[in-house]
Amino acid sequence: MIGITLIGTGALLPIPNRALSSMFLTCGGHSILFDCGEGTQTAARKAGISLMKTDMIATTHYHGDHIFGIPGLLQTMYSAGRVEPIYIAGPEGLNDILRPMMELIGGLGFEVLPVEIPHEGVRLREIIPGWPNGAMLSSFPAQHRCIAQGYSFTLRRAGKFDPVKAQELGVPVHMWKVLQRGESVFVGGREVLPAEVIGDERRGLKVAFTGDSAMCDSVVDGAKGADLLICEATYGKDSEAGKAIARGHMTFSHAAETAKLAGVKTLWLTHYSQSVTDPAEYLPNAQAIFPETVCGYDGMSAELCFES
Ligand SMILES: [Zn+2]
Ligand SMILES: [Zn+2]
Repeated sequence: MIGITLIGTGALLPIPNRALSSMFLTCGGHSILFDCGEGTQTAARKAGISLMKTDMIATTHYHGDHIFGIPGLLQTMYSAGRVEPIYIAGPEGLNDILRPMMELIGGLGFEVLPVEIPHEGVRLREIIPGWPNGAMLSSFPAQHRCIAQGYSFTLRRAGKFDPVKAQELGVPVHMWKVLQRGESVFVGGREVLPAEVIGDERRGLKVAFTGDSAMCDSVVDGAKGADLLICEATYGKDSEAGKAIARGHMTFSHAAETAKLAGVKTLWLTHYSQSVTDPAEYLPNAQAIFPETVCGYDGMSAELCFES
């Protein structure tokens, strides 16, 4: 299961009822915070989320509305007695951003470790012990006014275990767990491979988060087949398309077009300009292109489960 909460849905500056764009993802008792602007801490509290134990802050780019909350959050974690290291991910240039940030904060009681998330993805448990076996995090290039990337989180699902086959092969029940973990076992001197008792990989779950970006092929590729795409939609009106492209952003229609091309199941819009006072006003622009579009709002959350 994957839990998703939009902590904030605003662009550029926090306004009273809309915090800056940020998303919180949970899976198997672990979590990642995507972007952390000014006010993300208080917005998280409002949404009933504790960020104190989060494993990673994955930044999409280094514009202030996406990172200026990091020093404050790290400081709060220190005050709360955190000792576990925290990973910070981001596109090229991460160390140049982290260095002054760490100087500003001074000493912390835990390590802050930069990490690169490759396009081909990384198994999270290889970086942070305890993440579910099939949890993968990947990045994809976004098209913004600076180097930027989006992320996709995938929870792979192993094939179905066949107990009848395991019995036929003489595998004792206490060894089934080993095979289910993807490791082979030895029975009477013969190696039994997981593939002999486990079917083809089943459909897993995928969530994609664009960060700031204009509509482009790499975002479509990164979001391909996602169950949920959380896409920036800075401007509401179609007449603002030129402005959106020039500034490396999307309109509601651009986001819907992206979702359609990527073949996602559901689209949540976020990162609204303050000129978008009521996102619902422009929702029809998106739904005309991609009907499964929903306007994101601060505190909106969902749980994604495997299909039975
Ligand atoms: Zn932004
Ligand atoms: Zn930006």
